[in-house]
Amino acid sequence: MAALLRDAACDSCGTHHHFCLLGAELSPGQTYSYSCPMTGQKAFLRPGSAGEDTPHPPQGAVQLSPAPDAESKVGEGTPPGHAGQLQDAVPEVVEAAQKVGGYKRLADIAGTLDEMGQ
Ligand SMILES: [Zn+2]
Repeated sequence: MAALLRDAACDSCGTHHHFCLLGAELSPGQTYSYSCPMTGQKAFLRPGSAGEDTPHPPQGAVQLSPAPDAESKVGEGTPPGHAGQLQDAVPEVVEAAQKVGGYKRLADIAGTLDEMGQ
């Protein structure tokens, strides 16, 4: 099944195209990217409706793909890399703190090691 959006305005060339999204439903307000067949440029579309279900999109329909990086839905997708890395590191820090007898000890040891290193 595909979602079809008929005669939607194209930001890139200023005319209208049929757009289709294969294997998924269009989410109104979500941003989709596509390549305009007239200009060959990448452009974005934010449909105002869910479009219509069609088993076979018409020939020449422009294929859409979700653009998760655009300012669309908040709170979805992967978290920023830094937060993820910190999360990964925390269990090891907790483990190390437990081994030496607490975070204060760990900080003391880290400070001592730091001084020794200089
Ligand atoms: Zn176009």
